Amino acid sequence: MKKEKIFLFDTTLRDGAQTQGVDFSIQDKIKIANALNALGIDYIEGGWPGANPLDTSFFKSQPSLDQSILVSFGMTKKHGRSADNDPGLSSLLDSNTKSVCVVGKTWDYHVDIALQISNEENLINIKETAKHFIKNKKEFMFDAEHFFDGFKNNKNYALSCIQAAYDNGARWVVLCDTNGGTLPHEITEIVGEVSKKIPGTNLGIHAHNDTENAVANSLSAVIAGARQIQGTLNGLGERCGNANLVSIIPSLLFKDYFKDRFEISVNSKKISQLTDCSRLLDEILNQKPNKRAAYVGSSAFAHKGGLHVSAVQKDPKTYEHINPELIGNMRSIVISDQSGKSNIVSRLEKLNIKIDPSDEKVQKILDKVKDREFSGYSYDGADASFELLTRRLLGQIPNYIQIKNYEVSVIKEDNKTNNLNSIAKVTLLIDGKEYPCEGKGNGPVNALDQAIRNNLENIGKYSDFLSDLKLIDYKVRILNTGTNAVTRVSIESSDQSNKSWFTIGVSPNIIEASFRALIDSIDYKLYKSKAPASSK
Ligand SMILES: [Zn+2]
Repeated sequence: MKKEKIFLFDTTLRDGAQTQGVDFSIQDKIKIANALNALGIDYIEGGWPGANPLDTSFFKSQPSLDQSILVSFGMTKKHGRSADNDPGLSSLLDSNTKSVCVVGKTWDYHVDIALQISNEENLINIKETAKHFIKNKKEFMFDAEHFFDGFKNNKNYALSCIQAAYDNGARWVVLCDTNGGTLPHEITEIVGEVSKKIPGTNLGIHAHNDTENAVANSLSAVIAGARQIQGTLNGLGERCGNANLVSIIPSLLFKDYFKDRFEISVNSKKISQLTDCSRLLDEILNQKPNKRAAYVGSSAFAHKGGLHVSAVQKDPKTYEHINPELIGNMRSIVISDQSGKSNIVSRLEKLNIKIDPSDEKVQKILDKVKDREFSGYSYDGADASFELLTRRLLGQIPNYIQIKNYEVSVIKEDNKTNNLNSIAKVTLLIDGKEYPCEGKGNGPVNALDQAIRNNLENIGKYSDFLSDLKLIDYKVRILNTGTNAVTRVSIESSDQSNKSWFTIGVSPNIIEASFRALIDSIDYKLYKSKAPASSK
């Protein structure tokens, strides 16, 4: 039996970006798009060009994707305008994507209240919009807003709306549970009925999570015939979020019912990046990864308690529904050093460090990591700092620049303005020689960075290695451990290779935390560039 394809459509950059507290930069969007592309997602919705300047410029600087098709989003033409003269539709064409996804009303109540036009006029808008994009040779998708509520209220009208899109060339008709109140059995029933009018191979599902059923609803829609699933990384989205692709993808790939019938573009090799992809989004949002997230959470395969642990050690299948390594996650056994060691060994393997699990250095690394984690370090998403920590313990990182001392002061020169200046004085030690450096910045980290950066030409042998080092992002998270607040600073750096790396520093003092993250970034850059050691 030939397997049918389920198309995956990610809307993290559009629907996800509408979440409270989420404010992606263009660089964030590009980073997420590249990760989704590497994972093998079929469609990536990049945003709504014309609706805000950020999205318009994102499409101007489109990342080049080899797996995914970039999609721009908009709405059906306005009543009283021709499609050719509708600025919204023009922005979509200007965004220069192969595919467009256009939202339109299918619930008569919304046509009446929100658009204040007649049902017939709304149908014309849908039809003319579809024709316009087909004429302009775009792959056209119709996003049927509030479809399930519309279907329940006025079935014939809801169906005639999507029929208008389909009959006029829509490749996909995406059924949206916009308010997220529909339950799985209703999805099965309604999608089943719709697929009698429009083939399932042209139907998609876009579910919101307001009853915690967005994943179940997406899978139910597939069972009932739909062949495209829309969702977001980690279920990011307004209110209670969107369908979580991170949970859906492994179920499609590994669970018998779906595995036997369907194929997806995320293959068994690419899916090993899933956990990293999920954590990348958390890092960008500066939030702690959800430990209990299905498949990718750090607790998803954590075992504690005697009976479970001993059974898992005999055969992991006793308490695990799949092998965590398939999705790039790992088993962790909370009380056992043995498994802590194997976690370390598997992380080291990812860094191409081969080491025998029985080597006493593994225990040393484990103790150090545990110790650091206790004081607030978490190495999730900070791979460069983890690599440095382990390579230092393995004696693979030489001494580069030593910090003899530093001093940072914050000066408010004039009470009337809000201008704060920070001045940093750092004494560096290289080959036993002292190098005093001074820098000024709008904040302490900036000043520390400037102190080192401004003096690059004076710090002898390391200047060339560091000349292309850039700090891209700086994030602060306050960790509350008991009565003391501890600060975790994460710095993202890059260089001319355009690969970025994340380093962290943790301390009760924000400046010290920042400085540690900064020094790790410099050491990582020097290590990566094979810089020579400092003699003392
Ligand atoms: Zn939505």
